[in-house]
Amino acid sequence: MIKVTFFGVRGSTPCADSNHLRYGGHTSCIGVELDDRLIIFDAGSGIYNASPLALQNVHKEVHLLFSHVHLDHIMGLPFFFPVWKKDMTVHILAGSVEPYGGIHQFLSNTFTPPLFPIRFTDFPGNIQCRDFKVAENLNLFEGLKIDTCDLNHPNGAIGYRLNYKGNSVCYITDTEHSPGTLDPAILDLIQDSDLVIYDSSYNDENFSTYKGWGHSTWQEGIRLAKKANVKKLAIFHHDPSNTDDKMETIEKLATQEWDGAFIAKQGQVVEIG
Ligand SMILES: [Zn+2]
Ligand SMILES: [Zn+2]
Repeated sequence: MIKVTFFGVRGSTPCADSNHLRYGGHTSCIGVELDDRLIIFDAGSGIYNASPLALQNVHKEVHLLFSHVHLDHIMGLPFFFPVWKKDMTVHILAGSVEPYGGIHQFLSNTFTPPLFPIRFTDFPGNIQCRDFKVAENLNLFEGLKIDTCDLNHPNGAIGYRLNYKGNSVCYITDTEHSPGTLDPAILDLIQDSDLVIYDSSYNDENFSTYKGWGHSTWQEGIRLAKKANVKKLAIFHHDPSNTDDKMETIEKLATQEWDGAFIAKQGQVVEIG
């Protein structure tokens, strides 16, 4: 069984105000439980709330897969309790950081004084960093097959597909599409998937304003999902300007357009299989 928990659904910056309570203000973080194994996508501010789940893991182990290392996807890492626990192992995987010296060097250079009082290399948890290339075989544990692809984003980003016991979950953020052309690499990755979580920062109407910022629209998510025979689409990475009232409107429009779409809400749990 695959159990997906949305710990953070927001893009760019946490929004801790009354206009962002219903859909949630924490930035990107998703927990994926594969029976008794735990994978976490991204360490946005939402990862703080993933701590109890991780600490309970019977293997005392978490695999943290980064889409990329922009601030909204890493800012929560020092506030994720397992990195402070000697008996926990945190495997960190990244596929877009090698051109910048690799994930270990990047995190060591980032989480260090004066930005953070304790050096990343002094965090007490057993932290194992690994850089990988797209198409590389990522054998994390038995029964899991991971596929990846490059996304169109400044400084690079990686899309993931987790295949487990006949079911699958895809995590596709952050990425900018070219209007009129469905990204063939994404289509290939998400084909026939049970759940696709997709960068829906913008909409087709305001998309041209943000050309080059590296994000997509909920309408493009629906087009991709329908074309690739996806079962469910989670509209995700909500723009901070999308208040709860705006999100409600998007929810209505999106579900009218396709009943397989839903808005990812902070704290929401989706079970597959
Ligand atoms: Zn982002
Ligand atoms: Zn980004």
